[in-house]
Amino acid sequence: MATYHIETYGCTSNQGESREIERRLRDAGHRPADGPAGADVAILNTCTVVEKTERNMLRRAEELAEETADLIVTGCMALAQGEQFRDAGVDARVLHWEEVPSAVLNGECPTPASDTEPILDGEVGILPIARGCMSNCSYCITKHATGRIDSPPVEENVEKARALVHAGASEIRVTGQDTGVYGWDTGERKLPELLDRICSIDGEFRVRVGMANPGGVHGIREELAAVFADNEKLYNFIHLPVQSGSDDVLDEMRRQHRVGKFRETVETFDAALDEWTLSTDFIVGFPTETDADHELSMELLAEVRPEKVNVTRFSKRPNTDAAGMKGLGGTVKKERSKAMSELKREIVGEAYESMVGSTREVLVVEEGTGDSVKCRDGAYRQIIVREASERGVEPGDVLTVEVTGQNTMYAFGDPVETEPAGRSEPPAAR
Ligand code: SF4
Repeated sequence: MATYHIETYGCTSNQGESREIERRLRDAGHRPADGPAGADVAILNTCTVVEKTERNMLRRAEELAEETADLIVTGCMALAQGEQFRDAGVDARVLHWEEVPSAVLNGECPTPASDTEPILDGEVGILPIARGCMSNCSYCITKHATGRIDSPPVEENVEKARALVHAGASEIRVTGQDTGVYGWDTGERKLPELLDRICSIDGEFRVRVGMANPGGVHGIREELAAVFADNEKLYNFIHLPVQSGSDDVLDEMRRQHRVGKFRETVETFDAALDEWTLSTDFIVGFPTETDADHELSMELLAEVRPEKVNVTRFSKRPNTDAAGMKGLGGTVKKERSKAMSELKREIVGEAYESMVGSTREVLVVEEGTGDSVKCRDGAYRQIIVREASERGVEPGDVLTVEVTGQNTMYAFGDPVETEPAGRSEPPAAR
């Protein structure tokens, strides 16, 4: 858990994006600080309407970089003129706003709310299936708050999922610190069974599986991949945070997997699914990470080519073992993070570019910014449809779109039919 400070400049769109960033940070267990000086991370959401505003944004970024250990710059100026911050020597990570919540996590698993009750947020149902994990990562403070995994029975989670569907959820997000180890405390690995049972609930909805560490997934990879292949309701998406391409670093992080296990899991999913999205995370600049270790991470990224990557610059969390290790200098971390982020942009951009011109069925999941809606295809790729109200498109619709462009974070699409192809309705309660 981190404390954050967020400053927002400019239009209502920026304000809305900052609200969404904050919502996701709070959902992940982070808390606002009293000001920038007391924050683990400061977030500057920028505007770039006129030159004077740009100068103000640069000056404010310089001030915040001095005041806080970690500065993230996002918003219009960051996207359109991100190089200005680099040219001015501002020590900041320049990110698209949707990348910000993951970047704040410092490689730790998300911390859901204090209990594990489901939440319906618009059309999205959040279903925490268990609290806690089976690991003890040396850099993690989340573990102090969540403890060892405590898994409710499958039936209990299925009933919660059913209630969300009946309440109108068109997307169910199965969450937890580490969904891959669900059931381990009871002696059984139950994630495949749970997903199969949730997908058998009547109704038009999709299911997304949240973060699952490679160590937990490796032992169930064949069974899990088969469940993905058999269930159309399950997005072909899996978030496997590898964190490093070096086994030496993984040892120091006390991760429960080796790079080879991560590779084998990816190969299993490649063999089982025609199209799927691999999301992974890398921590850059862990205290014991050498140049050679960093190169191994770069090579792994270039080899597996995930469609979604979170690159986090290591920062110390209080009361963790990694906090007591002699750290790397800020410049080293910054250079490694920059190199990996550039490679990531190239790889993710290629993945989205390969979608342009294709036609795919999508579910409209939620409202976007302005008059747009966010849609997901079967592999959980995000496709934005603009002028939604004019086109009569709204959350819950199922439609066919042609992908017309991309911006390395998501694709843009136009509905192929003038009328939505379908509409998801909650089934009648039994
Ligand atoms: S798996 Fe590791 S990073 Fe995630 S909550 Fe457990 S100890 Fe923390």
